[in-house]
Amino acid sequence: MNTPLVFKFGGASVKDAESVRNVATIIARFPDRPMVVVVSAMGKMTNAFESVVAHWEQQNVSEAQQELNNIRAFHQGIIDQLFEPLPQSLLTDLEFWYNHLSEQLSNTSRSYSEQYDNIVHHGELISTRIVQEYVNLNTPAIWQDTRKLVRTDSQFRRATVQWHETAARITKAINDDRVHFVQGFIGSDADGRPTTLGREGSDYTGAVFAYCLGANSLTIWKDVPGMLNGDPKTFTNTTLIHQLPFAEAIELAFYGASIIHPKTIQPLQKKGIPLHIKSFVDPSAEGTVILESEAAVPQVPNFILKRNQALLELRTKDLAFIAEHHLSAVYQLFAELGVVVNLMRNTATKATFCINNDAIIVPRVVQALSDNFELTLVPDVELLTIRHYTEEDVARETEGMTILQEQRTPETVQFVFKS
Ligand code: ASP
Ligand code: MG
Repeated sequence: MNTPLVFKFGGASVKDAESVRNVATIIARFPDRPMVVVVSAMGKMTNAFESVVAHWEQQNVSEAQQELNNIRAFHQGIIDQLFEPLPQSLLTDLEFWYNHLSEQLSNTSRSYSEQYDNIVHHGELISTRIVQEYVNLNTPAIWQDTRKLVRTDSQFRRATVQWHETAARITKAINDDRVHFVQGFIGSDADGRPTTLGREGSDYTGAVFAYCLGANSLTIWKDVPGMLNGDPKTFTNTTLIHQLPFAEAIELAFYGASIIHPKTIQPLQKKGIPLHIKSFVDPSAEGTVILESEAAVPQVPNFILKRNQALLELRTKDLAFIAEHHLSAVYQLFAELGVVVNLMRNTATKATFCINNDAIIVPRVVQALSDNFELTLVPDVELLTIRHYTEEDVARETEGMTILQEQRTPETVQFVFKS
């Protein structure tokens, strides 16, 4: 068997009938087989399923069912536009899932997280089944159940992939020269219970399949021309990056470049599998390739803005120096509460942390630390990171800002400023 090509299509690329047709056209352009196609839930369906779970949690079964009816109507609208006549086997599969979903609403024993995965993963099942049925009209394509392929632990809503078993299952299942449709974002645990890998996890699923199959490449199809050196919604005059080293992509994801899911790169880097980011609007355009290389092409500064941050400043109550034991206690608390630290700095008597301004977690942090520290919290700040900066970039981007904190290395400069 040839080494496969792995494609990933996100929710925006399958948001209506016309986009599904476009996906089929893109797949047909690539004769390479086998091909694995990872697809997310259609459009905003994951959010819709989340609200089903929220109603269930509130014990509003009828509202949960109403939301399910809306979800069903949304998909049926797309099916009606794609098929003539309507394919019976597709309708039967969907009917089975909708009935199953309705039955789940009366379950009162599951934890919120387990029920979340149990319900939300249907967005991917339904989406992939519809797209596979449509593609199969012209290109031989089969549907496969990722729950049987991606084995995870039982940490619902943020499950960890168990690589060994997953690789064994995937290599066995992807075994003929067709297009194999699989679901992103989902898996199942040792007891067969559905799990999810965390929101926006489908890119990572693409990397899991590419890694396990030793794929030629992974291509993530997006509504942008590739990776730019800054989010065009925030920065002006952005440039398309043609080529980016794996190591640099990991750094950019770490600093918050939202186009790459942070966990996606490492498996690919391990096996030297290039990651292409291409536009589903303009599929013949070159896009961006992330691969093992020395430097980015072109070499441009990168601009990353993280909004909704909080700046937390700690001082010892007795003006003692901030020492290792203070910091280790603080980090232990952060780990327990799941606090994400985006910038940290300490001086003799002060430690400052820029953290995600989570409405639930930040008050808990403040509460837990105020016994031992004098504490100042600035809740509405933003964090600007510029990699490979010039002084000109810094002057232009920070003009008029009230800068609260600045940190520089020769490669990277970061500013925390008031929103
Ligand atoms: N459908 C899931 C989400 O919206 C996973 C993904 O799209 O990557 O988070
Ligand atoms: Mg999605």
